[in-house]
Amino acid sequence: MISIDTVLVKLASRCNLDCDYCYVYRMGDDAWKLQPKLISRDTVQALGRNLARLVSSQGRPLSIVFHGGEPLLIGARRFEEICADLRRELPSPVGLHVQTNGLLLTDAVIDICARHDVGISISLDGPASIHDRHRLDRRGRASHHAVMAAIARVLSHPKGDSLLTGLLCVIDLNVDPRDVYAFFKTTGTASVDFLYRDGNHDVLPVGKSSILSTEYGDWMVRLLDTYLVDASPIRIRLLDDMLRLILGGRAVKEGVGDDEYGILVVETDGSITKNDTLKSAGGTDRFDGAWSVHDDIVDLVTSSSFETYHREQRPSSPTCLSCPDLTICGGGMPAHRWSAANGLDNPSVFCADQKRLIERMRTHLSLGRAA
Ligand code: SF4
Repeated sequence: MISIDTVLVKLASRCNLDCDYCYVYRMGDDAWKLQPKLISRDTVQALGRNLARLVSSQGRPLSIVFHGGEPLLIGARRFEEICADLRRELPSPVGLHVQTNGLLLTDAVIDICARHDVGISISLDGPASIHDRHRLDRRGRASHHAVMAAIARVLSHPKGDSLLTGLLCVIDLNVDPRDVYAFFKTTGTASVDFLYRDGNHDVLPVGKSSILSTEYGDWMVRLLDTYLVDASPIRIRLLDDMLRLILGGRAVKEGVGDDEYGILVVETDGSITKNDTLKSAGGTDRFDGAWSVHDDIVDLVTSSSFETYHREQRPSSPTCLSCPDLTICGGGMPAHRWSAANGLDNPSVFCADQKRLIERMRTHLSLGRAA
């Protein structure tokens, strides 16, 4: 049986920000409009019981990530109920995490996270001049100041260092990565993760001029060069994962490498879908048949529909299968491989970028330090 590592649970189907690159609300899939605004307690309790059976059956723990929309729109009282319900059904080492834009991260919510051992990851795109270009609310108001205040509140909590699991930054190619890195070092975070802008072979990611161009690779190379000469760096998960893979180790998260990951998404109505980044890939995020938290998830994970989903995540293009960098790159996220003509049977739209970055990493590792 394929193991599930991560279950993204949408506590809210709406968001209090209107980010210009959002794959949920800005990529032409309006299914969220049909979802209840908030998940119900019954749905969470059914999910908890179901996941307890799954964990027992697969013999491995998993992580639950509260997602949205903005998950904290659920409100502090219901958030505490949800954490308590899931902790009752799924004791440690099942991980609980929340991915939030930070705007509703009050002291009360931070205390709830501390009580129930919920790791907090906050979305922040860099200094205000970058973040507030993209992450505005529906009335066009900036959010950077509030997010920075939220980070400070988490870090001032007695358990702050362990509660803040990291910051998540979507790359803006117009900004010097050295400035972005220098900014993140001032935030007090121990780690930051960088995400490429979403796109595929039919709709190129913003800033990428052609399939063969390397704007993202060039940006990441400049970030890498800065990172590797920093004597007291903050961790950059994506670069660490790729460097470890080149050295023969393993990645810790999906996106690179050839380890297989099992990811499910639970919508606010309790329906279960594939990784929702596939919304930007022709709406390929739905399973055949309608699965929900009221079905046995073990049945879903052992179904032919799930096997197809799992197979789709493996690289299938002949270019990738014969690529010397396959074990490091992994062929890219499925959403980044998609085209209307070939489905997921393409190299990543970031293929040239990844090759550029991997080549630079190899140079660093072979020389100790690149020229
Ligand atoms: S996407 Fe490109 S770099 Fe990555 S495995 Fe496929 S061919 Fe290799």
